[in-house]
Amino acid sequence: ISKLAVLTSGGDAPGMNPCIRAVVRTAIYNGLNVVGVKQGYKGLIENDMYDMNKRSVSNILNLGGTILKTARCLEFRTDEGMETAYQNLKAQGIDALVVIGGDGTFTGALRFSKKYPDIQIIGVPGTIDNDLYGSTYTLGFDTATNTVIEAIDKIRDTADAHDRLFFIEVMGRDSGAIALRAGISCGAEAILLPEVETAIDDLIASIKTGHLNKKSSSIVIVAEGDKHGGVYDIAKMVEKEVEHYDIKVTILGHLQRGGSPSSFDRILGSRLGFAAVNALIAGETQHMVGLRANEIVLTSLEEALTSHEFKLEDDLMQMAHILSI
Ligand code: ATP
Repeated sequence: ISKLAVLTSGGDAPGMNPCIRAVVRTAIYNGLNVVGVKQGYKGLIENDMYDMNKRSVSNILNLGGTILKTARCLEFRTDEGMETAYQNLKAQGIDALVVIGGDGTFTGALRFSKKYPDIQIIGVPGTIDNDLYGSTYTLGFDTATNTVIEAIDKIRDTADAHDRLFFIEVMGRDSGAIALRAGISCGAEAILLPEVETAIDDLIASIKTGHLNKKSSSIVIVAEGDKHGGVYDIAKMVEKEVEHYDIKVTILGHLQRGGSPSSFDRILGSRLGFAAVNALIAGETQHMVGLRANEIVLTSLEEALTSHEFKLEDDLMQMAHILSI
């Protein structure tokens, strides 16, 4: 390969910038030219790309979001859109692509790569949800969890001062990874996850027990993807049965995506970006780079998209309940 392009796509995640920096500098170190694509696949179709040099990625390690911007792009799902993207890449002499994003991004990358195998593609898992096969951790998950913890600690102060019961919704449409870790880290009295069915009666019973055990506040963390119809509905169902606490609801929302990447995400982004370029140089394509047992591993995009090995750790699930009695 002689010229590679890098893009970020789907939801932004802290750690994408350290990853872009690693891609750019590893490529330049190896004598390759690098192009940054703005707004993910949209930039490929609209030819919104620019040459990057060593200094293009100065002082971005500490920045959340992505300097390349990201977007959701419907047109890339069409054959015409893909053809335009391909022609734009060819016109610039680009023969390799690093895509940083989640499973949608990888689905697009794999389809594109099957149609146009002369463009090598490597994916980097970038999503705060931590729900991709092939990497124990995805970029942004650690920072997002830390942000959630910081917010819940503050809510705990006010909850405790007023004997309140707080229901806090955190991100995770299909994955309770953030909810579970934040719950353990903040001593949540209960955690509702998309992966586990929790009966509302059991939740009410445990809140009542907590009160009998002289807990002065209670925090229930609800992952976005929980199946009870949303955090407000859950709070209403509980409110009818629990008298001792003043009930409040907080949705943490988009603040969970922002902020300076944690040490973990800066290192992970750097490692995965470095590994992605080295994989391309070694001739790999249609793979993602990931971290497993603290080693960099390559997983085919096909396997990453069809396998669902990811599950929440059993010991964390058990512990979450036992440690909050
Ligand atoms: P997150 O996990 O943060 O949502 P993601 O990468 O899964 O990230 P998506 O919006 O699902 O985010 O996908 C990003 C982009 O990938 C889409 O906007 C679209 O351009 C492209 N994409 C998704 N699915 C396909 C597909 N089947 N074919 C072609 N492109 C696709």
